[in-house]
Amino acid sequence: MIVNLNIADTLIEGIDCKKPLIMSGPCSAETEEQVMTTARDLAKIGIKIFRAGIWKPRTRPNAFEGVGSEGLAWLKRVKDETGMLTAVEVANVKHVYEALKNNVDILWIGARTSANPFAVQEIADSLKGVNIPVLVKNPVNPDVELWIGALERINAAGITHLAAIHRGFSDYAKGQYRNNPQWTIPIELRRRIPNLQIIVDPSHIAGKRDLIMDLCQHAMDLDFDGLIIESHCDPDHAWSDASQQIQPEHLDYILKNLILRSQSVDNKQSVTLEELRVQIDKLDDEVLKVLEQRMIVAEKIGTFKKENNVTILQSSRWDVLLKQRINIGLAKGLSADFVQKIYSAIHEESIQHQKTVMNK
Ligand code: PEP
Ligand code: MN
Repeated sequence: MIVNLNIADTLIEGIDCKKPLIMSGPCSAETEEQVMTTARDLAKIGIKIFRAGIWKPRTRPNAFEGVGSEGLAWLKRVKDETGMLTAVEVANVKHVYEALKNNVDILWIGARTSANPFAVQEIADSLKGVNIPVLVKNPVNPDVELWIGALERINAAGITHLAAIHRGFSDYAKGQYRNNPQWTIPIELRRRIPNLQIIVDPSHIAGKRDLIMDLCQHAMDLDFDGLIIESHCDPDHAWSDASQQIQPEHLDYILKNLILRSQSVDNKQSVTLEELRVQIDKLDDEVLKVLEQRMIVAEKIGTFKKENNVTILQSSRWDVLLKQRINIGLAKGLSADFVQKIYSAIHEESIQHQKTVMNK
């Protein structure tokens, strides 16, 4: 179901919001000098929006938890001296009050906060009657409904300059990324709220600076609207998120090398694109027909198991089947991970069908 939000045409007034919208700045404001040096270097490469964490929601206590309100004066200086707009994270009503009092231009709600409807509602209530852009990060857990709920709460408070930030999801299994991007979730958010801009945060997805460039390109290839990238004048000595921050000149390199592809193609090319899409539609039709057939057979197996009183799941059979399918897939150029995911989903659906038959 499409969710209708009342969203303004321009996300941030006073700046050119054409794609990609770029925001950058340190994970945390640390000292006035660090903030000013980083800001000046960013302004030089044309960045228009400066981000900096003032209050930092750290996973464990006794880590650096942000400089607090003192840093808001530094952000004022950034505005005065560079003309950039400023953005900070707010996690409670006090943060909102302090940020507004100090003329911060843009607020964002962090991933730990957007996972908590009480906190989001309190922030929303404190924003009633204020016309400031608010960016809502995805909750740490991969739950698109919770993300939509947070956006709805802020929008219901009258905030129409609203966008989402995709920063990946916590995962117990540590993979290549600090936070698993699970791109299908922001893609689903786009489907559900088509007029909402989605900005990607490759820094918190990656956790390491080497992965940032590829993630930026991927975000653009998926047609997302902007990037929020952590930068620091001396990243290796940053007080938080050191390994993922990049120097402004590195950011400049990334932005200059981003390939921006257009959504539509000219007429001549689009004929072939149309033809290819027809082929894809036909193939998908076949995929679904085959799956339908497969479920019919699974139900027959269910009937057999019911009559002979055997369990639905026989793990050894499943193990052999999966290994075999992965090998067949590999020979066809499909990755093991992909085949494993597809077969896990097929197997789950198949068990569901067998269960229905057995419990009749
Ligand atoms: C941040 O942007 O510095 C931050 C704390 O991000 P997140 O809420 O995504 O962890
Ligand atoms: Mn950070």
